[in-house]
This record gives sequence, structure tokens and C-alpha cells, in this order.
Amino acid sequence: MAMYHSTRSQEPALNSKQAIRTGIAPDGGLCVCDDLGTATLDLSELASKSYADIARDVLGTLLTDYSAAEIAACVEEAYGDTFASGEVTPLVELAGELGEDCETCGDAGPATYVLELWHGPTSAFKDVALQMLPRLMARTANDGACSADASSPCGAAANPCAAADEKIMIVTATSGDTGKAALAGFSDAPGTGITVFYPEGKVSRVQELQMSTQEGGNVHVCGIRGNFDDAQSAVKQIFANKELAERLGEQGVRLSSANSINVGRLVPQVAYYFAAYAQLLRAERIQPGDAVEFCVPTGNFGDILAGYYAKRLGLPVAKLIVASDKNNVLCDFLTTGTYDRNRPFFTTTSPSMDILISSNLERMLYYLSDGDCELVAQLMDELAASGSYTLPADLLARIQELFGCGWADEDQVADAIATCWDLNDYLIDPHTACGYHVLGELAPAPDAKARVLLSTANPYKFPRAVADALGLACPEDDFACMEVLSDATGTEAPEQLATLQDKPILHTDVVDVDGMAAHVEAAALAL
Ligand SMILES: *Cc1c(COP(=O)(O)O)cnc(C)c1O
Repeated sequence: MAMYHSTRSQEPALNSKQAIRTGIAPDGGLCVCDDLGTATLDLSELASKSYADIARDVLGTLLTDYSAAEIAACVEEAYGDTFASGEVTPLVELAGELGEDCETCGDAGPATYVLELWHGPTSAFKDVALQMLPRLMARTANDGACSADASSPCGAAANPCAAADEKIMIVTATSGDTGKAALAGFSDAPGTGITVFYPEGKVSRVQELQMSTQEGGNVHVCGIRGNFDDAQSAVKQIFANKELAERLGEQGVRLSSANSINVGRLVPQVAYYFAAYAQLLRAERIQPGDAVEFCVPTGNFGDILAGYYAKRLGLPVAKLIVASDKNNVLCDFLTTGTYDRNRPFFTTTSPSMDILISSNLERMLYYLSDGDCELVAQLMDELAASGSYTLPADLLARIQELFGCGWADEDQVADAIATCWDLNDYLIDPHTACGYHVLGELAPAPDAKARVLLSTANPYKFPRAVADALGLACPEDDFACMEVLSDATGTEAPEQLATLQDKPILHTDVVDVDGMAAHVEAAALAL
């Protein structure tokens, strides 16, 4: 059975259910499994596989202690009828070239496709994972395998075993989209509550309303005075707070995470890389075995890390390209080998990528250093102490072989939205636009037969930024702005966004960062 342990040590030994229930390793590291890549997916039938078939294959390979029946049930519940596309994540070919200033993409180059990841209930790619995570979480309770090692080496607070009636409080920091997707996934989930913290004033109006109107007897939504990194760091401290965990444990409550630090959030995302490849095969745009390049708008490195997992599972990946916004800490890191978060934080039109501390990078460092926990622990200590670290040169070279990068400032994002519309009649949101810009800047990998841009949000989630980019005069109200955008482009807002303005606001709390733990405790005790 594949066991998970921390990126920073060989402990604890968790099966995949325990890893999902625990969320983050007790030493602050992220759960990783050394078996990644020892079993690969059989690609011979890939072209004929549905999204559900692929999701079952991927989950079954990476989460080995769920039964086939459990996985099939999770996949059916998560993707059966929750996505407004039969493909779940449909692939669209772009009609035009990538842009006038694209010197590298001549006629002979590989074609570019967009993988639309936003057909789920909240119109962002996080639905793919967050429709799945609650189903996986629900099946971690009362795990028989757990009783054998009830005396966890990390103390009672970190004991991954579930007591029969234990409840879970999901605590999540969001830069805008995770919050709503997690709320939608966990709302009224039995035995579970959810608390979401978002940076007040730093998410779009649509994003804020999506959260503040969320229904459900078990949901808590709270603004914080600070930015996303403040919220994420405070949430990590809440998870590391042993006294809090013990107090809650006495009341039968365990804290867990719906952020991409949770392996149950990461693994479902691996499936859509295979689904993109299957669609390219079906459309006869590539031959079996052809390499494909993926460009991924990323902040916390979760989405693109799933692409790395796909490669380890046997998908022919030419290159993985990180696309950042003006908060380009990842691109600087991949270029120089120095990660330095000591820099100004920018609030941009792509708020879900406004991140300076990129959590999932830690998993990438673990795998590309061949599982060097000591090195990872040392780098993460340096990051915590001084805000920066520098990689050994050989490790940087290995990383650069696989990962490319680029970034877009705000003007370039707006240009990309306008150019993509002009050339392709295709509307993209500001996050996807970062990737569109970067693809235009970088030459395709020599062996790439297709370039796939992951589209992470429906453009109507960010109607003002998109309308501004197209030069449309936008009224002050975001919903009127949606209408302007719709009239000008002949596209339509998803119903779940257009109807938000009619919903009552149910959540108005705002706290300081140092009030977050008390907020969680009160919510957990009310479960
Ligand atoms: C969360 C999010 C991202 C970044 O995802 P990572 O997992 O951090 O790579 C990009 N775009 C949108 C719209 C998002 O919601």
C-alpha cells in the first residue's frame, strides 16, 4: 500500500485516507508518497476513455487504500451531473495565432488549445478538486486500518485515526476561488463544518458575493484584515497549534484543510491532464506518444504540480510552463534558483494568483531532489526565518529541464484578453490571460506537438477586468458590467454568477489575523 509522509521527514506513515483526513503533516510539511511513478497509467485505451474513466484510473493509482467501489462512487458523485459539460473539462482549439508580437509561433508550429476547467458549480477550476475532496473525506472516517497505529509518534493531536463520532472542521484560506469551491463542496456535508477566510477587499466583487451568500448550516465565511499570504500563514499556524488541537480533540473535533496542501485536493487535478491528451487523440490532433506542452496560470503551484504528477504517471509531457502575474516570485525562482518573498505584494486583476508563498513548491522540491527531506526542511526553515532560500545549482538545472516560466504585468494581461478576443473570438479571464501572454513569449518546446493552455476561471467571474481590457465602458455595478460584456461579445454569464445579486448576504464577519484561531475554535465547538 502506498504510504504518505511529510516532505520534511520520513514521518508520520499515513495511508492515503489518513493523509487526506490530516491535511498537513504535523511538522508543517506536505504529505508525499514515494511510490509516485512506480505504477503508471495504461495509455493504450486512453482515446476511448471518458473523464470518469480517467478519474477512476488516476485516483485508483494514487490513493491505493480506497476500494475500487469507493472510488467509483466518489467519481460518480463529484462529476456525474455537477459540471455543465459532458467532457467535464472540454478542450477548445484556438482559431488564430497567439498574437501579433508572437515571433516564435509560425505556421509550422504546434497548434494551441485551451483546456476549460471552469464548467463546475462555482465557475473556477477548483471545482474539479473540491467536488471530489468532500467525497474522499467522507470515506476516511472510521478507517479500520487506523486502529493498529493509534499511538501516533506525533502525539494525540496529530493522531490521524478517526474516533467513531469524530467531526471535521475544514479551515481554508482563499485568494478568492478556493473559498467558494470549498463551500460548495462541503456545504451540509455530514459530520463536517467549514470555515473560510478571505482577504477583505482583495477579491473581486463577484468572488466576495459568491462566498457571503453561501447557504448551509455548517458554513462559516470570514474576511480578514490582511492579504492572502497572511491568511494562509495564519491557517498553517492554526493547524500547528497543539493546544488548540487538544482542546478541540476533547470535544471530538479535528481540523483539516481544503487547500491544495491536502493531497486529496491535488490528486483529482491530475486527471484533467490525461483528459486533455485523450481529447487531442480523439480529434486526431496528435498521435499516441506525442509530447504535449502545458502552460498553467499558477500561484500556489498546485495546478501545475498536478501536471508533474501526470508526467510521473506516464503522460508524455514536453514541458510545464508556469505563468505568473505581476507577483512573479515563482518565475524569478525558476530563473535564478533563489526564492525570495521579500518583495512588494501587488493586488492585481488576477487575485487568485496574488501569492508570494507558494505552498506546493515544497512537494516539487521533494520529488526533484529525489526525496531529500533534510534539504527540503532546511530550505523551508530558511524561508520561514529570512523569507528566502537558494537552491543547489544541480537541483535548479534539473527543475529547469522540465519547468519553463513567464509572467504578465497588468497591461500585458489586458492586452492578452483583447488580443485573444480579436484573433480567436474567444474570451479569457485575467488568470488565463497570464498564460496566454506567456505562451506568446516563449518558443514551444522542440518536441511539443500541441500546446495546451489551462483556463482556470470563467471570464464572467472577473467581468470588470475583462470588459476594461476590451475597451468597453463598464457601469459601476459588476452585474451591469456582465451585461455589457455579454452584449458586446455575444457570450453569456453562467447562471450561478448572474443570479448572485439577488441572493441574501449571510456572512459579514471580518477579523484581524490574530483573531482567526478564536474564530475557528468557536465555529468548531458549535459543530
Ligand atoms: C487558484 C487559482 C489559480 C492558481 O492555482 P494554483 O493551484 O495556485 O496553481 C489560478 N487561477 C484561478 C482562477 C484560480 O482560482
